[in-house]
This record gives sequence, structure tokens and C-alpha cells, in this order.
Amino acid sequence: MGFEKEKFDQLVNKSDIKWYREMIRNSPFSRKINQEKENELIDKSMKQAEAFKSLLIETYGIKDQPMSYMISLDVPLDYVKEEASYGVQYLGYYSLKSKKITINFSAINLILKNIRRFKLDQVNQEKLKDTILMHELFHHLEEMYPESYTKQKHLDTKIFGLFNSKVTLSLVGEIAAVHFSKIMTDLPHSPLLYNEIYKLK
Ligand SMILES: [Zn+2]
Repeated sequence: MGFEKEKFDQLVNKSDIKWYREMIRNSPFSRKINQEKENELIDKSMKQAEAFKSLLIETYGIKDQPMSYMISLDVPLDYVKEEASYGVQYLGYYSLKSKKITINFSAINLILKNIRRFKLDQVNQEKLKDTILMHELFHHLEEMYPESYTKQKHLDTKIFGLFNSKVTLSLVGEIAAVHFSKIMTDLPHSPLLYNEIYKLK
């Protein structure tokens, strides 16, 4: 499959809701979720992301760098270089056990390489790392506030993609984490676009 510029431009401009609908439709639950339920899951997940953003701003003030919130919350961070194994790769990972965030530079570098190789000028390179950090920080916040909406749902599954491959996660938690990473970094496109760039050949 060669690179198709037009198709890629469509991805750049795809709305958040469309991306989240696809997350649900590509999940094992797709048959059980009707349109009305789908709208509700997406709406509540997005609201959860917004609520966590407001909470951080209320508690710690507005920060220039998303990383500053991680320092305020005292979340440990690890940088690793790990190649894909058995076709599975991840950008970041939050360990429930150690309450630590891990960032994988192998996956980040491959995405940056593809951005240059295919001249994807519409894609933001500078915010890639912060987007991953904020995605994983969302999972940390979910643990801090177990009463939150995304923790109550039990649509647990293994979702394949760079943001989610390592552990079994809640589908609504994933939608919310993706959305949180977008609004925390003011990313001009969906964070899920990075998944697609990773796959370009
Ligand atoms: Zn996640």
C-alpha cells in the first residue's frame, strides 16, 4: 500500500467524534452498542476529560507546559527504547502497580521519521511527547478518582493501537484519555492520527 496524500488529509481533518465512534465500532462491543448508547459513551467520556482538565487548572493553576502538571502531581516518569515485539508496540504506558508513566522513544522516533519521510507538514511534531504524557496522566487521574465515570464502566477490552496495546483497558477510559491528551495540549488534530502515521509504509 503506497501513501495516499488525499486519504491522509482526510484523517488530519477528521472530527474527534468520528474518531471516537470508530474506536467503539472497532471494539468487541460494537454489536451491543446502539447509536444512542454510543452517543452517550462518547459524550460522557469527553466530559470526563474536560472535568479532569478543569480540576488540574483549579488545583494547580494554568501551566505553560503539560509536563508541569506531572511534576505537581509527583508522577514518576521513565524513558525507554523498546522495539515492537510480535507486532505490538506502544508509545506510553501507565503502570497501575508502580503508578509510574513510561514513554517509549522507539515508537516516538518512528512516528517522527514518518512525518519527515512523507512530508506531513500538517502534523504537529512538537506536541507528540506531551500528548503521550497527558494520555498516561489521564490514567493516573482515573486511579486518583476511582469514582469517576470512566472507572465505573466495564467495557474492558484489549484495544489494538499505540496508545493502548499493553494492557486491557476500559473503552470509555481510552476515549477519555485520548480526548484529555488533545485538550491538554491544544493539538490541532486527533492524537489518534499518530497511530496512523506509525503504520505508514
Ligand atoms: Zn490509554
